[in-house]
Amino acid sequence: MAELKTFLSPYLTGDVFALVYLVAGILFILGLKGLAHPSSARRGNNFAMLGMFIAIMVTLFHPQITDYMWIFVPMALGALVGVPIALKINMTAMPQLVAILHSFVGLAAVLVAAGMFLPFQPQLINPEGVVSEGVLPQLSTATMIEIFMGAWIGAITFTGSVVAFAKLNGNFRSAPITFKGQHLLNLAIFVAMIYFGVYFAMYQSVEAFVVMCALAFLLGFTLIIPIGGADMPVIVSMLNSYSGWAAAATGFTLNNMQLIIAGALIGSSGAILSYIMCKAMNRSFISVVLGGFGADDDPAASERASAVEKGVKAAAVEDAGYMLENAESVVIVPGYGMAVAQAQHALKEVSEILEEKGVKTRFAIHPVAGRMPGHMNVLLAEADVPYDRVEEMDEINSDFSQTDVVLVVGANDVVNPDAKEDPSSPLYGMPILDAYKAKMVYVVKRSMSSGYAGVENTLFYMDNTYMIFGDAKEIAENLSSSLKGTAH
Ligand code: NDP
Repeated sequence: MAELKTFLSPYLTGDVFALVYLVAGILFILGLKGLAHPSSARRGNNFAMLGMFIAIMVTLFHPQITDYMWIFVPMALGALVGVPIALKINMTAMPQLVAILHSFVGLAAVLVAAGMFLPFQPQLINPEGVVSEGVLPQLSTATMIEIFMGAWIGAITFTGSVVAFAKLNGNFRSAPITFKGQHLLNLAIFVAMIYFGVYFAMYQSVEAFVVMCALAFLLGFTLIIPIGGADMPVIVSMLNSYSGWAAAATGFTLNNMQLIIAGALIGSSGAILSYIMCKAMNRSFISVVLGGFGADDDPAASERASAVEKGVKAAAVEDAGYMLENAESVVIVPGYGMAVAQAQHALKEVSEILEEKGVKTRFAIHPVAGRMPGHMNVLLAEADVPYDRVEEMDEINSDFSQTDVVLVVGANDVVNPDAKEDPSSPLYGMPILDAYKAKMVYVVKRSMSSGYAGVENTLFYMDNTYMIFGDAKEIAENLSSSLKGTAH
């Protein structure tokens, strides 16, 4: 590697680096563009991977890099841990994986900031190889501000993402943890953090740096604990955005244009995604960030539950099969339970049999169904469901009132009519798929338990709704056999 670098060094001018980083940046943009639709998502991923490969390779030839041991050994260790996780991870555990990966970006930003600032830089090692301990590097105010920005955004991203991971993974209760004076406490921590950050930037104080980081770590924790389950999608994309800004700040500190470009792309695309998610859930972004809603222990929830008429009707798979094949139009609403059961292939078969029988069959996707943005699209694409049979909420919502049968498979919060009709519901205001407006609704799930937001679903008690209890995959397979058995 070192010989190759010596050979290439006359050609690798600053302009060449800038040009190659620009090419990598364009590949990242093409990657993001590809990710906008399931049909181009794979291609988008390939572009982004190629961009990252090029960026890493060219950085290895940077003249400032003199010792490869500290690069290759951690890279190999990271790959040793990362590759098995990536190969084994279930689609349903993807959101927690994304959350924990954001936390790594945050921690890396804090460590780079500390590494830049604390007195262990190579230039402080004298020709005899002795580290001049206790001597702080002379850094410009601009660099100190970059270090400060990278460290506090990174620290908030780190603890925030760890809490998001724990909530999504079930290690931490997903219901909001709220207490009196929470917003004031967050504000006080924020102000104190900025104070110590400014002090650090002005006086290069190690103590101020440590206190500032500790406060930022604490703020990441206190900001995310009050976020309720229903708001997790926004939080995950918001932390994605933070991790991007932390990376961009690190890019300024390290004077690396590629990190600035990649970080800014992640930061801005994450912010746009958060905005889209907030719009889809009819939430104000500020209120999501500042306080939680939707609690398991909400006393009003039990009141609501008892107020609801408990007239649940259970149906057999064969009954549902009969109604489905005699319908003119059917809409299938997949949710998190479809992902858990991996029922997408069996459901695709159901939709194909129905289409063969002349029943117009479509899938309706809610923007926050499942546990990550695009979760349902990815699963349906994996099962090769044609894209023209998959419709987004805005496209299909007006059709529900003319739909004969809706088959809700493992979805719950995204079809809860309380979100529209009950102002006391924690889901109130979130747009839903109007499944309840159809002539008949079959809901496939294992029990009467609530969805991620922890609230009762009045759809299950409506006159036109029938529950089919069981695992989504098993029910979909039985449904498909039942439909085949009665084929005309
Ligand atoms: P929900 O979490 O509301 O409900 C899923 C339902 O699936 C449960 O009620 C469960 O009921 C059922 N289920 C679980 N396993 C199975 C199985 N094997 N077979 C059949 N049913 C099963 O899911 P939705 O998709 O409707 O809503 C998503 C929720 O997650 C929203 O509140 C959203 O805000 C939140 N969220 C979304 C994220 C995103 O980015 N999309 C990220 C984080 C949270 P039972 O146990 O009775 O079977």
